[in-house]
Amino acid sequence: MSLLIRSPNPDVIDPLSWKEAIASLMPDLDICVWPDTGDLERVECFLGQRAEAALFKSMTQIKFMQQFAAGADYALSDPAIPPGLLVSRMVDPAMANTMSLFVLAAVLRYHRQLDAYQRQQVSHVWKRLQVPCAQDRTVGVMGLGALGGDLCSKLVALGFKVAGWSRTDKSLPGVKIYQGPSSLDAFLKCSEILVCLLPLTQATRGILNRENLAKMPHGSYLINVARGEHHVVDDVLAALDSGQLAGATIDVHAHDPNPPADESPLWDHPRVAVTPHVATLSSPTSAAAYVVENIRRVRAGLKPLNVIDRVNGY
Ligand code: NDP
Repeated sequence: MSLLIRSPNPDVIDPLSWKEAIASLMPDLDICVWPDTGDLERVECFLGQRAEAALFKSMTQIKFMQQFAAGADYALSDPAIPPGLLVSRMVDPAMANTMSLFVLAAVLRYHRQLDAYQRQQVSHVWKRLQVPCAQDRTVGVMGLGALGGDLCSKLVALGFKVAGWSRTDKSLPGVKIYQGPSSLDAFLKCSEILVCLLPLTQATRGILNRENLAKMPHGSYLINVARGEHHVVDDVLAALDSGQLAGATIDVHAHDPNPPADESPLWDHPRVAVTPHVATLSSPTSAAAYVVENIRRVRAGLKPLNVIDRVNGY
């Protein structure tokens, strides 16, 4: 049986590095890298993001698809993927750490008002701004999964007050948990820096809208590193212009994976930091072990880890 690797973007996700890392852990595994498919009837695992329906049909013995990505939305919106095929999301500690470091950079920039000093410098203004202690600043994290959970533990270690919002109840040391839709208002009310790490589902699409942004403290900050469809661009801009939001870091855009169109007002807003969906990425040196673990599990008759739940949508 074999593993077929097909990178959605070989410039960013180098399939040969994945092959090398996986082969070092499972030397007997027959690994093919697209466009060399080998005998498609021998493919047991497809490591990729998208493929044509005909390709899936040809892989008659496929046991599961291993995504490069953490988000479930790509697979769930792809009609080519057979609905009965098990699809495992990428979950990897290094990927979580990379995400946490990106978000921490943005949190610290706002917490220490480096964005405000940057604006002051442009006008040659020498003015010291007040700095609240980390313990007096609440960071709200929407989504407490593989990525949000890691971020919370690091924010707690830095001394921040941390609030977390998830669908089901959780217990995370040092984090005040808000669970479900009925607690969303209370969660937003205390979130001075709000980080979105939710999956994109019917329940979360458009959640960062005018109504919800208005529930946050005046002058708070937004960091969206989840999906572009979580925020409503016009509502974020209106909140920035009214001062309800003091700044926003937007890593994800509704028309991902393409960059936002030149005319997007996000580009030029002085209080918006735009990045091109770079908050994190899976790395073969770390995540190859997860892929190998899933292949071993499937060979032992078990389900791969972190299979996308088509009912919950993530
Ligand atoms: P997980 O599935 O591990 O975690 C999702 C979290 O969101 C869980 O805590 C879940 O709650 C919570 N959640 C889901 N639906 C709701 C809801 N309706 N209300 C409240 N909470 C909800 O995902 P990951 O942490 O691995 O990834 C999160 C997202 O990050 C991905 O879906 C993707 O969109 C984005 N991402 C962005 C990247 C980037 O570079 N910008 C890269 C990788 C991922 P519960 O725990 O109760 O199930």
